[in-house]
Amino acid sequence: MKTKRIAIIGAGPSGLAQMRAFESARSKGEEIPEIVCFERQSNWGGLWNYTWRTGLDENGEPVHSSMYRYLWSNGPKEGLEFADYSFEEHFGKQIASYPPRAVLFDYIEGRVLKAGIRDWIRFNTPVRFVRYNEDDETFTVTAHDQVKDSTYEETFDHVICASGHFTTPNVPHYEGFEEFKGRILHAHDFRDACEFAGKDLLLLGSSYSAEDIGSQCWKYGAKSITTSYRSAPMGFKWPDNWDEVPALVRMEGNIAHFKDGSSRHVDAIILCTGYKHFFNFLPDDLRLKTTNRLATADLYKGVVFINNTKMFYLGMQDQWFTFNMFDAQAWWVRDAIMGKIEVPTDLNVLKADVEERIAREDAGDGDKYAIQYQGDYVKELIAETDYPDFDVQGACEAFFAWKDHKKEDIMAFRNKSYRSVITGTMAPAHHTPWKDALDDSLETYLQNELVKEKEKA
Ligand code: FAD
Ligand code: NAP
Repeated sequence: MKTKRIAIIGAGPSGLAQMRAFESARSKGEEIPEIVCFERQSNWGGLWNYTWRTGLDENGEPVHSSMYRYLWSNGPKEGLEFADYSFEEHFGKQIASYPPRAVLFDYIEGRVLKAGIRDWIRFNTPVRFVRYNEDDETFTVTAHDQVKDSTYEETFDHVICASGHFTTPNVPHYEGFEEFKGRILHAHDFRDACEFAGKDLLLLGSSYSAEDIGSQCWKYGAKSITTSYRSAPMGFKWPDNWDEVPALVRMEGNIAHFKDGSSRHVDAIILCTGYKHFFNFLPDDLRLKTTNRLATADLYKGVVFINNTKMFYLGMQDQWFTFNMFDAQAWWVRDAIMGKIEVPTDLNVLKADVEERIAREDAGDGDKYAIQYQGDYVKELIAETDYPDFDVQGACEAFFAWKDHKKEDIMAFRNKSYRSVITGTMAPAHHTPWKDALDDSLETYLQNELVKEKEKA
C-alpha cells in the first residue's frame, strides 16, 4: 500500500509535538506516514524563537514571534511539563518553577533534538495555499522555498495546521491616536521594557499581555503604569505607581480620557488587545473561524475540522495547558491518521461534539472552572492514546495554587515553587526574586555550574 503523506504547517510547540508523536510510534516499530513540516521561520520553536525584529522578517514575511526580552513563563512549568521528557531529564536536575523564555526554548528543543526529527522540517518555507482535491481526496500544498526563491506544489493525504494564533494582532483604533505625540504599539511589537524607563505608560487590555508587559515595564523602571479595561479589571494588588482604570474613550494630545470621566497624561500606549486566528493561506472551505476560547468552533475533539475530517488543527484553543495539551492532541491526531482511532463521518455527530464542548464551557465561569475544563480535556485525549499517563489533576492543582499566589502578590508569584507531576520532585526556590532578576539569560537562570556541566557532557 502507498505510504500516506502528511503535511504539518508550523514547527512551534504544537507542530513539534506532532512530529514527536509520529517518531514515538516509529521508535516502537510501527510504520509511520511520510511527514513534511513546513516552517516559515529559519528555526523551530514558534513563538519561543525570539527575534529582535518587528513588522517583517528577513524574507519579507510577517514576524511570527510576539515574545520579548526578559519574558518569564507566566504559569508554573509544572503545568506544562512533557510527560515523556521531564525538566530533570533535560537539565540533569530539577530547576525553579518559572523559567525565562530562553530556558523553555532549550527544554522544547532538547526533546526534539533527542527525537532526531529536524530533517522532517523545511525551514524558511511558508505555506502559501492549501487546496482540497475532491476527486482523489488529497490536498495540494503550495509552499515557497525562500532560500531558492521558488514556489512549488506537493500532494498530501492529510494537512495538520499548527500555525499558532498569537501572532496577528487585534489593533483597535481610538479617537485622537493620529495626533498622539508618542509611540503607539501593539504587544506583538513590544520587545524591551527598558525603552519605557522613566515614562508614563498606558496599556489597553486586562489579560495576560497587559499584566505581564505592565509588570516588565514596572520592573525595568517605568515612571507609572495605567492599565485600562474594557470589560473587567484584573484586580490585583498593584504597586503604588500602577492604576487600573475603565475603558479609554479618546486621546487629546497626550491626555487619555477614560469612561469614568478621569484623565491623565501618558507618554506611550501599548495595545495589549489580543490576537486574531488568522490563516491567509487557507481557502474558505478549510479555514477555521473561531474566537479565542477553550471550546473552539468547528473542531471535533478540539482537533478535527468538521467540514473536512482529513484536515486537523492543533493548539487553537485559548490556553491554560500548553505543551502537554499539544502533546495530547498530537498523539490523538497521529492515531486518527494511523487508523487506530475512528473519526465519525456523520456531520451531525461531529457538530454535536462541538456543541457539547461549547455548552459545557459556557455553563461555568471563573478561572478555576476553566482550568478544570481544560484539564478534563487533556485527560480525555490521553486516555485514548499511549501518551504516558500523568497526574493531570495535579497540574490543575498547580494552576489553582498559581492563581492564589497571584492574588497574594502579583510581583512575587514567580518566586513560588511547585512539585513536578511527572517526577514528583519539588522545584527549588530560584536564586533571585523575580523583581530583582534583571538578567534573564539561560546561563544566569541555571547558574553557571550547570551550564558548564552541560557543555562537558
Ligand atoms: P506558535 O508557537 O505560534 O508556532 C506556530 C509556528 O507556525 C511558528 O513557528 C510559525 O513560524 C509557523 N507558521 C505560521 N504560519 C505559517 C505558514 N503559513 N507556513 C509555515 N509556517 C507557518 N505558553 C506557556 O505555556 N507559557 C508561557 O509563558 C507562555 N507565554 C506566552 C507569551 C506570549 C507573548 C504569547 C503570545 C504566548 C505565550 N504562551 C505561553 C502561549 C503559546 O501560545 C504557546 O506556548 C505555544 O507557543 C503555542 O505553540 P504553537 O505551536 O501552537 O504556535
Ligand atoms: P487575550 O488574553 O486574548 O486578551 C485580550 C485583551 O484585550 C482582553 O482584556 C480584551 O478585553 C482586550 N481587548 C480586546 N479588544 C479591545 C479593544 N478594542 N479595546 C480595549 N481592550 C480590548 O490576549 P493577551 O493578553 O495578548 O494574551 C494572549 C496569550 O499570550 C495568552 O495565552 C497569554 O498567556 C500569553 N502571554 C503570556 C505571557 C508570559 O508568559 N509571560 C505574557 C503575555 C502574554 P475583553 O476582556 O473586554 O475582551
